[in-house]
Amino acid sequence: MTKANDARIKRSQERAALRLKQAGLELERAQRAFSDEQRALRAERTETIALLRLYAERYGDLDWEDALALPEILEQHLFDPLERTLQKVTLRLERFKAEAQTARDAMRTLGTRTQDAPAVQEIPPEIPRPRPGPRPRLQAVPEVVHRPLVVAAQLRDQYGYVVRCTCGWASPLTSSQASARALAGEHCGVVPERQQSAR
Ligand SMILES: [Zn+2]
Repeated sequence: MTKANDARIKRSQERAALRLKQAGLELERAQRAFSDEQRALRAERTETIALLRLYAERYGDLDWEDALALPEILEQHLFDPLERTLQKVTLRLERFKAEAQTARDAMRTLGTRTQDAPAVQEIPPEIPRPRPGPRPRLQAVPEVVHRPLVVAAQLRDQYGYVVRCTCGWASPLTSSQASARALAGEHCGVVPERQQSAR
């Protein structure tokens, strides 16, 4: 009887010990999860703070500690300055719009006045008369004048005659004055008499 009773108590104690051990393990697991979460939150906060510093520098101010609560940082050092800037910009825009309207009104008044003014007699533009004297260079196309001239010439070791014309043309070297003259006639569009009769 006592022996059986002892055994039951012992089993009960063992079960209790097991439950306790399991509870301890669970607690340990929960603690680990909690610290993991905390670490993640800290990392996120650090990242958020860095980002806030970036935006606050651009749109707000940097007069705050990293430990300051996020809502305060957002409100006092980012949104409020941003709102003040926005108000200033809006004010400037309104002023600019008013100025533009004034300018438009002034222009409209000016246009009305021009319409009301008595019609001004239109004076036909004076047509410039051609001036006496030398014509402008671009208009003067000089007539090409051909005045060929037979001259004695030397090309390397050859002696002969060439025709030079006032137009700038020059004939190749020829052996005789007669052939040079023929070339000159050809250049001027005149076929030499001798050749003409030969045809
Ligand atoms: Zn010529």
